[in-house]
Amino acid sequence: MPEMRITFLGTGAGNCIYRSHTAICLDCPDGTRLLLDASSGNSVVRNGARLGLFAGDFHHVLLSHQHGDHMGGIPDLQGIRTMANADADPLQVYSSEPTLRKLEALFRATSVTHSIDQDGVDTAQGKPVVRWTPVEDSQRVTVSPGVEAWAFPVDHIPGAMGWAVVASGITLVFSGDTRFCPRVAEAAQGADVLIHEALSTNADRESTRSRGHTTAAEAAQIAAEAGAHRLIMTHLDSPFHLDQQPLIDEARSIYDGPVSVANDLSQFTVSCP
Ligand SMILES: [Zn+2]
Ligand SMILES: [Zn+2]
Repeated sequence: MPEMRITFLGTGAGNCIYRSHTAICLDCPDGTRLLLDASSGNSVVRNGARLGLFAGDFHHVLLSHQHGDHMGGIPDLQGIRTMANADADPLQVYSSEPTLRKLEALFRATSVTHSIDQDGVDTAQGKPVVRWTPVEDSQRVTVSPGVEAWAFPVDHIPGAMGWAVVASGITLVFSGDTRFCPRVAEAAQGADVLIHEALSTNADRESTRSRGHTTAAEAAQIAAEAGAHRLIMTHLDSPFHLDQQPLIDEARSIYDGPVSVANDLSQFTVSCP
């Protein structure tokens, strides 16, 4: 039976001081490995290596938005990846045009020798090491013969997107960072897994919303409206690092399906229905 393995390499919100920033590795049934966001710094490489997921084995990044806790790790991933395998095909990064222009600016700001243009990043010797592909709302991307993905706008900052991934009949939807957003429920209709951010509980709803984020109750409402088969919450703030029960209890009061909170290095397996 086809299976997708989900590995959380970072589950903390931008201000969280206990967890790595957001990165999720998907191992699809056809062997394709995808990253949903790339954390900051070297978290993908460092946490991945602890589970046997090495830098040279990441080839595709579906990027939600430009905030440093999601995009900042891409230059580090590229550098370590190229060091591990100088002959590797370029790292493919997919996101909205505004987000990719910020990623281009990040490479320009941090790279000394690379040549950078609107197509991607090349080494000083002219070897392509990153290629970026802009995607529009609902535009389908064929990542591999067995994996398709598409992005949809969410309510966070300009250019922010969530992602849907379909592989061998398994559908996974990732909210990225967003306030409560009906587009996520629309994209996640009948999804096997909804990975939704949950910064806090409804006790802090107004401050959560003003920071551009979602509460556990709101994430559960999206999961319920979508009829998603499973909800995994991530992007936690420091107060919930040690005790996630308030998030789980709040979500369970609204959504009937299985509810989990991801921790750094958590792994989940999803089978084809
Ligand atoms: Zn974030
Ligand atoms: Zn953000």
